[in-house]
Amino acid sequence: KRIITTEALEEDIKIEKSLRPQSLEEYIGQKKAKDNLKVYIEAAKQRNEALDHVLFYGPPGLGKTTLAGIIAIEMNVNIKVTSGPAIAKPGEMAAILNNLQEGDLLFVDEIHRLNRQVEEVLYPAMEDYAIDIMIGKGSSARSIRLDLPQFTLVGATTRAGLLTAPLRDRFGVIHRLEFYELDELETIIIRSAEVLGVEIDSDGALEIARRSRGTPRLANRLLKRVRDFAQVKYDGVISEKVARLALDLLDVDKMGLDYIDRTILLTMIEKFNGGPIGLDSLAAAIGEDAGTIEDVYEPFLIKNGFIHRTPRGRVVTEGTYRHFGLTFKES
Ligand code: ADP
Repeated sequence: KRIITTEALEEDIKIEKSLRPQSLEEYIGQKKAKDNLKVYIEAAKQRNEALDHVLFYGPPGLGKTTLAGIIAIEMNVNIKVTSGPAIAKPGEMAAILNNLQEGDLLFVDEIHRLNRQVEEVLYPAMEDYAIDIMIGKGSSARSIRLDLPQFTLVGATTRAGLLTAPLRDRFGVIHRLEFYELDELETIIIRSAEVLGVEIDSDGALEIARRSRGTPRLANRLLKRVRDFAQVKYDGVISEKVARLALDLLDVDKMGLDYIDRTILLTMIEKFNGGPIGLDSLAAAIGEDAGTIEDVYEPFLIKNGFIHRTPRGRVVTEGTYRHFGLTFKES
């Protein structure tokens, strides 16, 4: 499994719990989302109402789940956590909703993966705090409406475009989470090192930040790996040199690219002359799923100027040639 994947791995689960910021104050970056949420939370508290439903979208590992947890803490309510693929039947969703207490926050990760019938249970729940239940069969079937307590639905998805319009329209607040800047990641790494009780200097933190692909989850995972290396091979302190040697061993290069990224970029250069190339041809050439390329690998490569999207397909940039020490050929 690639170490720089931004999806949560088994090894992240325990550590992420301890590293999760517990308040908006502690939550680094995402200023726009944070500033807005602060206002909405304050207003909802003053009115003594549940917060409006919130949708977070953006690549994995940027802090959507963390923010949902923080909202619950700041609103002083319970959080129930579930995910799109975990709910198979409308009745299961109805049961979850029916068990909510006044003001509770329901977090639905991967909300775009709810099936249609389950999703439809959410419409009246979100709009009117109610669910419609069918009783009886055939001609005697009728639907009765059950009132729910006021609650807040917080949904998370990798792309807002994956949601159906009726679901998306029922969120009052929609925020895109952005990749983190280097100084923000450095701050997150230093904070995490403190929590883990590891000594690190700012150059060491910056070196890890550089290779973390703008993603806190990855920053924390790399920190943990570098910590092990520092402990076994050095005096336990993470300096720039220790971080660099450890990350080189993990095959994560200076820009945070690993072999899959390099395969994607070099395939585009060597087999397709740098593009333009369609997503499906690229997927076929490297033996990867097109959706995975689009959702998982590509956002970082686009954000960092390795790939451009054009109407005719993907092209690699001059910077990519430079990164590999190759001469750029205008295509
Ligand atoms: P997502 O739900 O978007 O996949 P998570 O909320 O699970 O991402 O975040 C992954 C980990 O990254 C968290 O456990 C947390 O430790 C860390 N993290 C995310 N965002 C921040 C942040 N803004 N400040 C500090 N740590 C963060």
